[in-house]
Amino acid sequence: MQLACSECRAPAEADTLFCAACGGLLAFICNTTLSAADLRSLLAQRRLSNAHIDTSGVWRYRELLPSLPLEAVTTLRENVAPLYSASTGAAYAGCARLSYLHLGMNPTASFKDAGMTVAISHAKARGARVAVCASTGNTAAAMAAYAARAGLIAVVLVPAKGVSAAKLAQTLDYGARVIAIDGDFDQALAMVRTLDPQRTAIVNSVNPYRIEGQKTAAFQLLEQRDWQVPDWLILPGGNLGNTSAFGKGFREALQLGLIDRLPRLAVVQAAGAAPFVPVVQSGGQLQAVKAETNATAIKIGAPASWRKALQEVRDSSGTALAVSDEQIADARAIIGRDGVGCEPASAASLAGAKQLREAGLLDADADAVLVLTGHVLKDTAYAAAYHESSAAFANHPLSIGSAADVAQYIADLASGKLA
Ligand SMILES: *Cc1c(COP(=O)(O)O)cnc(C)c1O
Ligand SMILES: [Zn+2]
Repeated sequence: MQLACSECRAPAEADTLFCAACGGLLAFICNTTLSAADLRSLLAQRRLSNAHIDTSGVWRYRELLPSLPLEAVTTLRENVAPLYSASTGAAYAGCARLSYLHLGMNPTASFKDAGMTVAISHAKARGARVAVCASTGNTAAAMAAYAARAGLIAVVLVPAKGVSAAKLAQTLDYGARVIAIDGDFDQALAMVRTLDPQRTAIVNSVNPYRIEGQKTAAFQLLEQRDWQVPDWLILPGGNLGNTSAFGKGFREALQLGLIDRLPRLAVVQAAGAAPFVPVVQSGGQLQAVKAETNATAIKIGAPASWRKALQEVRDSSGTALAVSDEQIADARAIIGRDGVGCEPASAASLAGAKQLREAGLLDADADAVLVLTGHVLKDTAYAAAYHESSAAFANHPLSIGSAADVAQYIADLASGKLA
């Protein structure tokens, strides 16, 4: 695979992050010569294999990834993400055929693992000692876990305020050096971007190895659907690395002949952190904003991958939209009622589906996949606060009184007297 500028196409040097000619982000060009039939049978074979590398939902697609020495591959069996039907969510959005691709079901409980396994394996292969990232929490946790397994020192820069306690705790458990920054994610990332990528492994999503890993979520989704393409893929957008990764994955699947069309990408941002929406709707350059939202994983005002993501959204005849924090909160509670659960940022996908349906962009019988990016236990403080509030779907804990009253209450539920 060749590394080249995603904008001016100039070839790029290994272990750099930005184009020397124009400053654009780099991307790998997939040049496998395998046929679709060969790939499908290879993948079917690997399903039966217990080899570590074959059970990973990233490395099972290794012919479509940058090649790395096997001994450097650091995997935690990531990206084996379940696809669930979404009946409560579908009724809420007014669509008949919604499903959830739950990327929160990953070793560190977010989709970041799919990219991190490749970025850290590459860092190990090139002999890096230190891996660095800026993070709102999930990138930090993923990097820390993979770095621990690869024997690398992990250094994370996180905003001093607004990172969920669970994300910080798991990052500390995995042994990372955590540096709190007096600023937000955008400022933390700006600091990381001044570091020398040849001396330390910078593993934010500006790192093209991250995107290669994350693109396999598209393959994994398609494979679970027997290569039937959904009409829409609806996902939350923050730094927009994941949008560019899904777009790249679907495009490559199309080029390889694994599928015959692209799903349309719908990127959903939180209203207080939605600089991508006007670019998709009216063109022009992205204007950075000061991000404000309780969905901290998408609290990003200057998304690094906006140009790549814009290309993917355009190629797929997709769209971008903004939803309020209240809509995100309600949608998250609804996803819980499907027995699935996710962190706040993930629920932007369902809030977005509802809005797209109301705007008539999404047909009532459209086949749409909602990407759930992180696990419900990533932000329990948020969930607890929601259920204590007077929000639409708040589920208040009951205090009923005597043992006899409790027994009566349960008996009434059992007999159908109470709903
Ligand atoms: C990182 C993250 C996002 C945003 O993904 P981008 O690639 O930054 O657009 C959304 N949800 C969760 C849970 C995340 O961890
Ligand atoms: Zn360039």
